Amino acid sequence: MKKDPKATKPQTSAVRTQVPVTPHREHSVPIYATSSFVFDDSEEMRAAFADEIDRNIYSRFTNPNVAELAEKIRLLEGAEAGHATATGMAAVFCTFGALLSAGDHLLCCRSIFGATHTMLSKILPRFGIEHSYFDAADPDSWDAQIRKNTKLIFAETPTNPAVDLVDLERLGALAKKKNVLLAVDNAFATPIHQKPIDFGAHLVIHSATKFIDGQGRVMGGVVVGRADLVKPVFDFARTTGPALSPFNAWILSKSIETLEIRMEKHAENALAVAEWLEKQKGVADVKYPFLRSHPQYAVAKRQMTGGGAVLSFRLEGGLAQGKRFLDACELCSLTANLGDTRTIVSHPSSTTHAKLTEPERLAVGIPPGLVRVSVGLEHPDDVIADLRQALERSRA
Ligand SMILES: *Cc1c(COP(=O)(O)O)cnc(C)c1O
Repeated sequence: MKKDPKATKPQTSAVRTQVPVTPHREHSVPIYATSSFVFDDSEEMRAAFADEIDRNIYSRFTNPNVAELAEKIRLLEGAEAGHATATGMAAVFCTFGALLSAGDHLLCCRSIFGATHTMLSKILPRFGIEHSYFDAADPDSWDAQIRKNTKLIFAETPTNPAVDLVDLERLGALAKKKNVLLAVDNAFATPIHQKPIDFGAHLVIHSATKFIDGQGRVMGGVVVGRADLVKPVFDFARTTGPALSPFNAWILSKSIETLEIRMEKHAENALAVAEWLEKQKGVADVKYPFLRSHPQYAVAKRQMTGGGAVLSFRLEGGLAQGKRFLDACELCSLTANLGDTRTIVSHPSSTTHAKLTEPERLAVGIPPGLVRVSVGLEHPDDVIADLRQALERSRA
């Protein structure tokens, strides 16, 4: 009798959850590279389409590799159901598309992933869905922001790229009191360091492209949460088409087997880099959730079991020094990603957030000299050595 992975600890489930083996009795799951699945007769096919039997029909709907990935994240997040999509943004859009209708209002934290911000300001208004932003640092102001037509609260914590935090306990309590749905983008912390469902989130969204892959190879997204909410998200995705490829799902599912040890090492390295940065001349406001000087350190300790891999700091030399700093890095990569085994540095003011005006950037916590670092799995001494020489050379 084989042990049911659902009856084990989360780390064991993450390593052991697998779709049933084929007649070849493989140990590692194969890639189900097939567009569709066959039926023995018309009656079986009819029953599958009628949802009377649980069968794969067509890979835009379901696929064993995709289901396996969603199941692992479901177990790690402690959710009832899950579905995986082609990218993180597909997961965000399918959630909005499934749960919001014309006339609804969405309340979102001000500091939010760039493409999500664009979706709120440019795409959803065309479908009659309005939004407003709440200030993560001022929980007392949240209550008054809920409108009669507020259907969903959406938050991201830690925030990108400022590494501020949203108090999930307060937000969960507000959603409950006002009877509004709460969805949390958990891409930065991963379920290893933060479980939003424990604080009252109804849905949790991931860009699996980040730490779940963890090695900068493939894109993917996941939505997990209450079964009656995941069902419409699945129906929306199945019809509109952002299906995750079986190959990407296979990569992502295998990656989850090492997620916990990677996150532990990422956090250990990130804390070492953050503590070192804090002592450097010309560096102000180092923000890392588990750094004692983080203004929301108490919130971090309440809702996170580890600080994740991402930190931000401000160079006193502003925009020009930010660019010089990036040019001076010899080991850290300049690339538009995060959550990789390789340390990545970015300068939001001159790249991802360059289209915003300076006051708009300041409103989302991005001063001109802000640098974001996604600390990787190199030896932290080497990361620090690179940052040290880049700091020295970037001084005017
Ligand atoms: C990257 C990212 C996304 C978007 O995910 P993609 O896989 O790039 O579509 C959404 N939210 C956060 C917090 C992210 O870092």
